[in-house]
Amino acid sequence: MHTARVNLHGLTREQLHVQFARWGFPSVHAARLWSHLYLDLADSLSSATLPDLPVRVRDRLAAEATLESPRTALATDSSDGFTRKYLLRLSDDERIETVLMRFTGRVTACISSQAGCAMGCVFCATGQMGFLRDLTPAEIVAQALHVARTLRRASEAADPAEARPESPPPATTASSSRLRNVVLMGMGEPLHNYDAVMHAIDILRDPAGLALGAERITLSTVGVVPGILRLARERRPLHLAVSLHSADSAERAALVPVAKKWPLDELMAACRTYSETTGRRIFYEWTLIEGKNDSPEHARAVGRLLRGLPAQVNLIPLNPTTQYDGVPTRPEAAKRFQQILAHEFSLPSTVRQRRGLDIAAGCGQLAVAAT
Ligand code: SF4
Repeated sequence: MHTARVNLHGLTREQLHVQFARWGFPSVHAARLWSHLYLDLADSLSSATLPDLPVRVRDRLAAEATLESPRTALATDSSDGFTRKYLLRLSDDERIETVLMRFTGRVTACISSQAGCAMGCVFCATGQMGFLRDLTPAEIVAQALHVARTLRRASEAADPAEARPESPPPATTASSSRLRNVVLMGMGEPLHNYDAVMHAIDILRDPAGLALGAERITLSTVGVVPGILRLARERRPLHLAVSLHSADSAERAALVPVAKKWPLDELMAACRTYSETTGRRIFYEWTLIEGKNDSPEHARAVGRLLRGLPAQVNLIPLNPTTQYDGVPTRPEAAKRFQQILAHEFSLPSTVRQRRGLDIAAGCGQLAVAAT
């Protein structure tokens, strides 16, 4: 009978040890394989990448396990060299996008949790594609590893093409050669694929592997209320970002159709529970669209909505997509919005640095081109 191969990137370290025990191999071999996967960033199970594993272990892996790393179908660099977008092809030929972003002194991987998305936010290119399928934990982990390998190649400058985006912004430090931050803000709604995403986060956080700290992982949701409440119950160690975009139920539902299922008052009750239970501040994301949600009244409405909550507002001037005709808020209006939040409500906010717009790698722009 044919049994499915074990995808090693989908196993936690503990599960890898259990698998090795099942195969009758000592734990030391599992520990070695784990460090090859997550410290050496091995992308195959060949003897060259696993030199210290006995032949019988490698043979068993070759017969019953796989890495199934996604292949790069296309990699595009933004003209300023700070952003690289990968179009990755999965084993069933489905395609997803992953983005490497360089900010001053840090590197962030923006990874996808689904191929397409069922949430249908009107300004989002992924939402306009519709839902194709959930990603597996291995496919989520593999995206972070893909970015980590790029950074390592760049730091070793073994491949001049990889070295290009390393051209440092003025204050970039050596820390930018290692992946330290992951945001689940790529294609898909992470809380709509909860189990796979949490399993992947457990692997990314493993201290003997990529060792991403809780404060280095940010999950962004459009407002899936049961998922937020489950995160609170399970006290998951991560940063939570909630896409708000409007403090008015009807206005929000016009931008984010899923708000009809989980209305604003239910969402805010869930956010309050989350913050009370975990003691964590939530980042509230607000895509600024000129003439739609960027007026002083809108700023005051969000100020009132978030009053008393541990909150920070991330303002994101709209990134253009072909199927939505809204335009980004002008910088003066974004600044005015921010000042109202600060002066009238003591509410901290940031205006997000825009990255990768020329290669459609900004927030809400990820979509697999029909080629
Ligand atoms: S903004 Fe996020 S949740 Fe909304 S459609 Fe796009 S990917 Fe899905």
